[in-house]
Amino acid sequence: MTNQVCSRCGSYLITDSQNYLVNDIKEELKSESNTCGKCSKEELELKIELIKAGQIDNILKDPKWNKKKLLENLDYYLENGLMVFTEYFHLKKGYCCKNNCRHCPYN
Ligand SMILES: [Zn+2]
Repeated sequence: MTNQVCSRCGSYLITDSQNYLVNDIKEELKSESNTCGKCSKEELELKIELIKAGQIDNILKDPKWNKKKLLENLDYYLENGLMVFTEYFHLKKGYCCKNNCRHCPYN
């Protein structure tokens, strides 16, 4: 993992702890490409847009997708010690839990 460049933007891939999240995102995306953190996040955002547009709803029926562990800053973030679920998490779950979640995409 030395001096590899991102297949999308050509910048050098960082091999420090930041890569932890990048690798998790790539696993979520089932991405085989060598993309940097920024491009991986863009890829994920694009995927979220497609899910919202109903274009890849089959991904929500993939049991592996739903059973993945929750990742900080991807599925949730912490605010005053409380977990706030992201829109991504709700989309992944596939339905509204009626708890008035802040990032609920279903209403
Ligand atoms: Zn990149």
